[in-house]
Amino acid sequence: MRIIKYNNEKFIDAEQYAGSEFETWYNTTVSYLQNVIQDESVKADMLMDNDKYLIQKTDGDTCIVLGHDKIYRKKKFPLSAVAFECPMVVTFLRENLLGIMPGIALRPGYDAHAFIHELLHALSSTTIHFFNENGISYIKIGTKVKYIDKNMEYVDGKNLSAEGFNEGITEALASLITGRFTGQYPSHTAIGTLFVTSNSLALNAYFSHDLSRLEEFYKDLEEKQSIITREDLMNFGKDTSEELIARIIAAGVAYNKAYNQDFDEQLYSLLIQNMDNADRLDNGSWRDLIAKYQTGIGSMS
Ligand SMILES: [Zn+2]
Repeated sequence: MRIIKYNNEKFIDAEQYAGSEFETWYNTTVSYLQNVIQDESVKADMLMDNDKYLIQKTDGDTCIVLGHDKIYRKKKFPLSAVAFECPMVVTFLRENLLGIMPGIALRPGYDAHAFIHELLHALSSTTIHFFNENGISYIKIGTKVKYIDKNMEYVDGKNLSAEGFNEGITEALASLITGRFTGQYPSHTAIGTLFVTSNSLALNAYFSHDLSRLEEFYKDLEEKQSIITREDLMNFGKDTSEELIARIIAAGVAYNKAYNQDFDEQLYSLLIQNMDNADRLDNGSWRDLIAKYQTGIGSMS
């Protein structure tokens, strides 16, 4: 990784990465992932090109990105965020080959957890993109997929994208790596945690650059439980109804139990507690609402 700043109309090194807090956080994250990802090709995708990732610190509310048209532009931080990940340098390496260097923008207030969350988005991003004979390629960031043309305009494509689930896996992994479930985005975190602690299929779907791993995960999900379909999971985030969230969590519990003899009740209680604290229901607790959908599969006490 490089720590950069924008100066004299170009990116230059801002400070030493070696020995920085970012190097420590990067090493912690990558060694955790190397232990939990089993598949060598998924590991290779996770590690691809990440010596070129960029870190940009700023005191303002924008960072600078370089577009495929070789123009530097300002990009605004999402509201109240202290960190975000984005394609920081986009370049056509050849006519049909687009390179994207992920970058992490930071402003005062960031900490290890915030950095690691954004680093996970970067580590799960595709960096090399081939355009097919129709001039279409796709960018995959975790379980989020977008199809693009050579003007970097979005186009329709076979959709396997699960954006809310992507945030859930990201925050679940950041929490598992730092050992701290912050209580932020509690329903996303609960959903992400139930699936990433089930087996390696969700992790493969998230880190692999290949869409077939997403397909593989969805297929297994639909085989191992019947509470939700892949469309339900893909809709999470767009549809944030309590009903859908409770149903996905019920499915996550059933899926996790299909793989784990020892379901982690303690962790589950913590996840549900965080949801009760943040998104209080009008009636009863999340545990009760979730239990309504836990029919037939698994056995909740
Ligand atoms: Zn995120």
